[in-house]
Amino acid sequence: MPISSRLRDTFVDLVGGDAVLTTGFGGYLTDEAQTSGLRGHADAVVLPRTTTEVAGVLRACYEHELAVTPRGGGTGYSGGAIPRGGIVLGLERMTKVRSFDPLLWRIQVEAGVRTQALRNLARESGLLFPPDPGAAESSQIGGNIATNAGGPHTFKYGATGRWVTGLEAVLPSGDVVEVGGPLRKDVAGYDLKSLLVGSEGTLAVITSAWLSLIPVPEAALPVVALYPGSREGCAAIEAVIGSGLQAAALEFLDERVVGAAKAGLPRRLASAGGFMVIAEADGSVEDAHRLRDDLLDALSEDAKELWAPEGSEIAALWRWRESVSGAVTAQRGGKLSEDIAVPIGRLQEAIDQTVVIGRRHRLETCSWGHAGDGNLHSTFLIDPADPEELDRANAASKDLFALATNLGGTVSGEHGIGLLKAGQLRLQWGESAIGLHEAIKEVFDPKRLLNPGKKVP
Ligand SMILES: Cc1cc2nc3c(=O)[nH]c(=O)nc-3n(C[C@H](O)[C@H](O)[C@H](O)COP(=O)(O)OP(=O)(O)OC[C@H]3O[C@@H](n4cnc5c(N)ncnc54)[C@H](O)[C@@H]3O)c2cc1C
Repeated sequence: MPISSRLRDTFVDLVGGDAVLTTGFGGYLTDEAQTSGLRGHADAVVLPRTTTEVAGVLRACYEHELAVTPRGGGTGYSGGAIPRGGIVLGLERMTKVRSFDPLLWRIQVEAGVRTQALRNLARESGLLFPPDPGAAESSQIGGNIATNAGGPHTFKYGATGRWVTGLEAVLPSGDVVEVGGPLRKDVAGYDLKSLLVGSEGTLAVITSAWLSLIPVPEAALPVVALYPGSREGCAAIEAVIGSGLQAAALEFLDERVVGAAKAGLPRRLASAGGFMVIAEADGSVEDAHRLRDDLLDALSEDAKELWAPEGSEIAALWRWRESVSGAVTAQRGGKLSEDIAVPIGRLQEAIDQTVVIGRRHRLETCSWGHAGDGNLHSTFLIDPADPEELDRANAASKDLFALATNLGGTVSGEHGIGLLKAGQLRLQWGESAIGLHEAIKEVFDPKRLLNPGKKVP
């Protein structure tokens, strides 16, 4: 339903005519969950440039009881940014760097700054923003914080939230709150900053964040190992963890993923393929070389092939790793890829059972992911033009969530609950914990206007 012309005029007064879209905004109605057949609807899109504008828009929506879906880069895999009526509030025009103190290793940026832009800016001063989620060119810092995004190097450096020291956010009522700041320690109140991290736009709209940075490690040296199967590969992963070696990244790709993507590898494999483990050593040049040797040692048992990329091969290897998702999609034109996480000792079971679930639903299946964090992208390949196949993949995903919780894991280690996994939280949390979620939602958003139907339905 289109918004009333009075409300449209209110938005135009607040943010300007060019920042209120009432037609032709189809691109704002979906995100990367569109492969699951999800598409939303909205009455308008509003694109504020300042926190004051965000506050004004939220206040107007609160008065008119209009739903608001915050949107970053729209790269989410769980449908979190897919609107279900009301307005989409896009943060893409909030791109200012509010302060940058390279000598103190900290920066304050607005929510719409893209992840890669932030990483590039830090790097120009010899600094690193460690979180490295895949879609860095398009995703925004606000979206990364709202989903607590991680990536391959989360194993050593933690997910986005670990690097957030403070947030500015706007509550559904339009009130602006600041929690934390350019502080390294703060135990004065409840940890509201961490509550907003990963809240998927259901509690407040994040407008700005104080982030901490570290010096770029002098050297980063990956190693690649290939094994006959998941048993040997997972034993090697446990050997690395058990040896106490602090790898920066510890990734796996099963045989089917390696088969689908190996043509693009920066080196020809000697064997036909296998279960791949990638680990990375970083630090000073000397420390990284020593750690790489130790990693090669820890990974050597049962390995069919070991490879230590050098020079330009290193960046090429990580580019290839990023391209794996596309190579898997290309197999059948579409895929449903989940992000369950399990305790590390259950990783092999989760990988093997993913294949069993796929077989049960007559689907081709594969998995890859952040082995050190027990986080797998269990994937069902589909023909996007076949709705019946999509139904089977959705049913397989439900079995996968049950598997994750039965193994003591989580239905989402990375992408969040969003719309796609609405209701699945109950598989994982007991009644009391669900009750706390609902009570928290009520305090922040008593009219249930912010991103309705997501996270805590
Ligand atoms: C190719 C590819 C690779 C990916 N790799 C990874 C990966 O390695 N690790 C990983 O964790 N994810 C990954 N993702 C998923 C996605 O990129 C991340 O979840 C990302 O952090 C989402 O950011 P976004 O700006 O696109 O947010 P959106 O998709 O726009 O939104 C995501 C959620 O955050 C909320 N939100 C967005 N901005 C704000 C804000 N300012 N205030 C409040 N709420 C907000 C939205 O309402 C929604 O619920 C990948 C996606 C793709 C397409």
